[in-house]
Order: sequence, then structure tokens, then C-alpha cells
Amino acid sequence: MNQNNNKKNTGSKTPWKNIIPIVVVALVFTIIVNSLYTSFANSYLQEISFTEFKSMVNEDKVDSIQVQSDRILILTREDAEKSAAEQTVYFTALLPQNNMTELYAQLQNLGVDYQGHIVEEVSPLISFLVSWVLPYAIILGAFFLLTRIMSKKMGSGGGGGLMGGMGQSKAKVYMEKETGVTFADVAGQDEAKEQLMEIIDFLHNPQKYAAIGAKLPKGALLVGSPGTGKTLLAKAVAGEAKVPFFSIAGSDFVEMFVGVGASRVRDLFQQAAKMAPAIIFIDEIDAIGKSRDSRLGGNDEREQTLNQLLSEIDGFDSSKGVVILAATNRPEILDKALLRAGRFDRRIIVDRPNLAGRYQTLRVHTRGIKLSEDVDLQKIAQATAGAVGADLANLVNEAALRAVRQGRKAVNQEDLLVSFEVVIAGTEKKGTVLTDMEKRIVSYHEVGHALVAALEKHAQPVSKITIVPHTSGALGYTMQMPEEEKFLSSREELQVELRTLLGGRAAEQVVFGIQTTGAANDIERATDLARKMVTQYGMSDKFGLMALSNVGNQYLDGNTIMNCAESTAAQADSEIKDLLFACYEDAKRLLRENRELLDEVSLYLLQKETITGDELMAYVNADKRRLEAQNAFTEDVNASDETSVTE
Ligand code: ADP
Ligand code: ZN
Repeated sequence: MNQNNNKKNTGSKTPWKNIIPIVVVALVFTIIVNSLYTSFANSYLQEISFTEFKSMVNEDKVDSIQVQSDRILILTREDAEKSAAEQTVYFTALLPQNNMTELYAQLQNLGVDYQGHIVEEVSPLISFLVSWVLPYAIILGAFFLLTRIMSKKMGSGGGGGLMGGMGQSKAKVYMEKETGVTFADVAGQDEAKEQLMEIIDFLHNPQKYAAIGAKLPKGALLVGSPGTGKTLLAKAVAGEAKVPFFSIAGSDFVEMFVGVGASRVRDLFQQAAKMAPAIIFIDEIDAIGKSRDSRLGGNDEREQTLNQLLSEIDGFDSSKGVVILAATNRPEILDKALLRAGRFDRRIIVDRPNLAGRYQTLRVHTRGIKLSEDVDLQKIAQATAGAVGADLANLVNEAALRAVRQGRKAVNQEDLLVSFEVVIAGTEKKGTVLTDMEKRIVSYHEVGHALVAALEKHAQPVSKITIVPHTSGALGYTMQMPEEEKFLSSREELQVELRTLLGGRAAEQVVFGIQTTGAANDIERATDLARKMVTQYGMSDKFGLMALSNVGNQYLDGNTIMNCAESTAAQADSEIKDLLFACYEDAKRLLRENRELLDEVSLYLLQKETITGDELMAYVNADKRRLEAQNAFTEDVNASDETSVTE
């Protein structure tokens, strides 16, 4: 589109941006070198007055002198006998000629060795060159050499260094002739694979499509959260189609220098066209593909790069068999021009894996790992709801490392469970010392969460409670594990979740009458959930089915943007507050009613530091039986009374 334009820019803008820091460095360097040199050169010189010199001559102390353009250097007889290193050389200012003739005659009489009137001194031009120009030359030379080496390392081929031929510097293209990755290495993601099959078929024989006159999309956009396997899928497509795989990250295009990105894009497509059929994979395409009007002023370099990318996509002939895959986790910020028909008009969603997907991912990653017999990957898959492929790969590796550390030959279930916690909560933190009181509070806080969950019908079962501080900063945590994967949550279940989240603070308040900072994370999560219930899920009585916010970027952090009048937003806030307050009150009531149980379990946890869900349930069930026994007793009494049954 504007190839020429780019080149011009490259020539005029970049060198100046570059040269200023270099000049500054060289200047500083030169000054330092010069001052060092002068101080070194003067270190053995000592100035004396002309009168002193004359009396030296009169006393016949002078061995030899050297007359320079502005001074006379004097060596005494005493010093002449010493070695050069120990000599002190005196100097004095050179006086006008007529004062000197007499002196010279005297010197000659005394047999002092004196050298010609003007010692052949370094010409000022050369001295200037040596002391001021040479350092620059050295520094510039070193800089060029460095950039040469760097650009060689970075790309394929040297390409002119950074300064002269900015436009030619090559992209950090990463090319694999054979990726060796196949769909078998990608667990789950069946829908994505299915959509990509067509592309593979196309790469196998583009003629088949050309014969009918069908145009295949030039590119597909892989959309999904980080670590869900987008890069892996792209590689697998290349592997399945047995074509070379060119990959580059969007951020590699965006350099300091205007024009580099655009030339890299050009380069990338040229290289790929030579090797066609081929796959070009652009990771994090949002780095260049950001909507152009999203920021005031815009970004010259990024826009140029994007324009170049668009024109390359439009320009190349898809029948040659080059397919571009791009990955992003923020499709909503991409420039509309990129998504237009004929460009990245296909979107392939790469989702977080579900239970089956997680199980398969674990299977894939444990293929090369020795597992002991007690390993139950299904259980691990259940525990890791929300984890992406990269987390699971990480988990398996952590487990293997742990097994090695403990000198075992195979990975067991405990390794996997412990590494799950490492991945989720960070390692146990040694060295955080809590006071006894703090420990008591943390213990009650965690049991508060756990007990609310245990006493509610719709809650997820508690699997572990601990008050061992973790590196993530949590002083303790309560882990809940769903029995099966769930996709829908009812309003009741979400309310229970709110109560559970607020159970920690409720326990602090009920037992100690205090509020601590330990509840910050709980409160944040609870507020977040309550906000969603009110503004997105239509679960408030006041607003009913009205959506008050929409999801900003679904694949990154799921942040929402309020989408209503300000006064409505304020009302929504107060609705959220009411919801949280009600749930908090419920949690407090529940804990008050079960105060004995709360004390029992908290003290037990305080002793053991970590207890399992089963241990918790043993307490809860024992308590239930006790209550039932009591109720049975009152019922008996009531029955004999024949009056209303107490509940
Ligand atoms: P993304 O590009 O989506 O951020 P990657 O493709 O780089 O994620 O995934 C990182 C790593 O996670 C992969 O190298 C692989 O080991 C693992 N991984 C992710 N998803 C899967 C999957 N579906 N099956 C197997 N491994 C996966
Ligand atoms: Zn808490």
C-alpha cells in the first residue's frame, strides 16, 4: 500500500534518533580519556618559577633542557642519574625571545645539553584528531559491529546493521521445516481441530480448491485465553500438513524504529512465499492489530506495520498455499480492517478445557512420565477446574520434579496433588511467623469459610483447610472441590458461594468482634460475584432481567464495563451492597448457631495446621447426630404433650 512511503521514512527519521545517545556517550568517554591522559602526563612534572630556573642554571644544577612551544622542560643533574621512573622533570614558562638569548649562551657555556628552540610538537590538528575524533570513531565502530552481530543473530542474514539500512533489518522469524507436532499432541479442542482440518486439506492440495473456484480464507484467528494451546494448535496444523512453519510474535514487529515493523512484515511474507506451501503464525497479533482509532494521536510505527500486514494479506495469492494463523486473547481490540472478509474472517475459539479436556491434557503430558499405580488422573482433572493446558503441563512437570527431589522412581498421586497446590497457591512459605493470636484468628477465619460451606446444601464440598502460610501471600486457605463439573450455577448456589466467601470475616466478627485485613481477597471476590449477579446474570429483584454491564475482554480477565446511566450504576452499587450485607448476616447467623462446632474445629485446626475435608465432615456429622439426638428427645417430650412440634 505505501511501501515507498515506508522507505522514505526509514531514511529520514531513524538515524537522528539513534545518533544522539551515541554522541553523548562518545563525548563523555572522550572527556574522561582526555582528562585522565592530562593528569597522567602531568604527574611527574613539577612547575618552577623562571627565577628558580635561573638560579638552578647559575648553580650549575641543570643537566639538560628541552624547549617546547610554551615551556621549558628541565632535568637536573641529580635527576639525570636516576632511572626514568624516579625522575622529576621541572618545567617553567617560556619567556619572550630577548630574555632567552642570554640564557642560552650561558647554558652553552656550561655545557648543558639543550635541544632546539622548537621541539617538533604534535601539530594541533593531529592532537585534536587523536584526542577528540578518535574516541568517536572507536565508539561508533564498536556500535556498528555490535548491531551487525545482533541483527545477524536476530534474523536470517545480516542486512545492513541498525543505522544505514534500518529498513532492511530482518525479522526474528522463527522457521521450522517440520514442527513434528500433530493433532495427537493437542488434547481436547475438538471443535478447533475440526475447523483447522479444512486448512490442512487445503495445504495438501490447493489445486482441488482452485479447480472449483473456491477461495479459501487466507487467515484464521485463534482466540482464547493464554496457555490454552493456540501456538500448539498452529504448529500441529503445520505438522499435519507437513509444511514449514513460520512464526513471529506481534510484539517483535513493534520496534523503536519507525519502518522496521513494516519491513519485517514484507520480509516474512517473502520468505514464506519462497517456501510455499507454508503456515505463517503471528502470535499476540493484538500488539500490531490494535484498533487504529483506539488512542489519541495513534502510533505511527504500529499503524504502518498494520497497513503493511493488511496489504500483504490482500496482495498474496492464496492459491500458492500460504495460510496465516494468528493468535490473540483480546479479539475485541483488533482493528476491524483485520477482521474484514478475505482477511482474518475465521475465528477459531480455543477454549479453556473442560473436565474431559483436562483429563486428556494430563494424559498427553504424562505420556513420557513414569506414574506409580495410585495415580488417578481423573481426580486431578476434577480438582483443576479452570486450569488451562499450560497450567496442567506445568503441574505434571512440577510433580515429576518433586518425585526426583524425593528420590523416587515414579510420580505418585501425592506429587500431583501437591504440585497442584504449588501451581495454585505457591509453595508453602517457610519463615512467616504468626503470633499465637494471629494464628487463632486465621484458624477461625478459615473454619468460618469451611463451616458455612459444610452446613449449606448447595455448597461445593470442602477438601482441605490449612493455616500454613503460602508464598502467594495467603495466610491460610480453604479448598473446595466440586464433585463434578458444573456449567450452570443457580441463584441459590451463588448466594451460598457469597456466604462461604464472607464466612471468614463473619467468624472473625462473631468470635473476636474484630475485622482483619485477612478478608481482603474474600471481599474482593464476593463483591465481584455480587456485581455479576446484579449487573449480568439478572439475579436482583430490583433490576430483574436488565443487563447493566457487558464483558470487556472475555479471554483475558473477563473485566466488565458498566453500560447504563450513572444513576442506575449508583443504584446497582447499593443493590450489590445490600446483597453482600444480607449474605454476611446469614453467614454470621449460621456461625452463631453453630458456635460450639466452630470452636471445636478451629481448635483442632490450630493444632494440626492442615485438615482434610473428611475430618471436617466427621465433626459436622457428629454434631448433627448430637442435635438429632437432642431433637428426638424434645420430640418425645412434645409427642407426649400432643402440642406443636418444635423445629
Ligand atoms: P497459547 O499459545 O495459547 O498461549 P501455548 O500453545 O503456548 O498456549 O501452550 C503452552 C503449553 O501448554 C504447550 O506447549 C503445551 O505443553 C501446553 N498445552 C496447552 N494446551 C494444550 C493442549 N490442549 N494439549 C496439550 N498441551 C497443551
Ligand atoms: Zn478468607
